Amino acid sequence: MSLLLIVCPHCNDINRVPSECLTQKTPCDACKQVLFAQRPSKLTARNFQFYLSNNDIPVVVHFWSPSCGFNPAMEAAYTLATSRLEPWVRLARLNVEQEKTMAVRYKIDSTPTLIFFKSDREIARKSGVMTASEIMSWVSGYI
Ligand SMILES: [Zn+2]
Repeated sequence: MSLLLIVCPHCNDINRVPSECLTQKTPCDACKQVLFAQRPSKLTARNFQFYLSNNDIPVVVHFWSPSCGFNPAMEAAYTLATSRLEPWVRLARLNVEQEKTMAVRYKIDSTPTLIFFKSDREIARKSGVMTASEIMSWVSGYI
């Protein structure tokens, strides 16, 4: 039995979940809400590094901008992909207009951009609008 560390998207508690018990319905030990809420977790400059360092599952981050005309379509596709891909990967999003320091740190020069992180390291990135099935296939290639 291996224990996976999973950060709760609601209260930021670090859960230890036996890998065979990990499902979309697994509740948080602290706040009792489900660890996977069928929608992307919201990241900020404050919790970004904590998320990357304390999740044993890969973390995909959608760097998005509210002023990008493609954003509504991409957000809908990403949310659908989240509900299909979790719990074996955590999908999250970060608003680059609110978190400009993060956009600079990760050299985001266009939105939308997806970055796939595993064990705190960037494994891959892809820019441009994608459909839900394109997101699922891209993410699945790295899990
Ligand atoms: Zn919680």
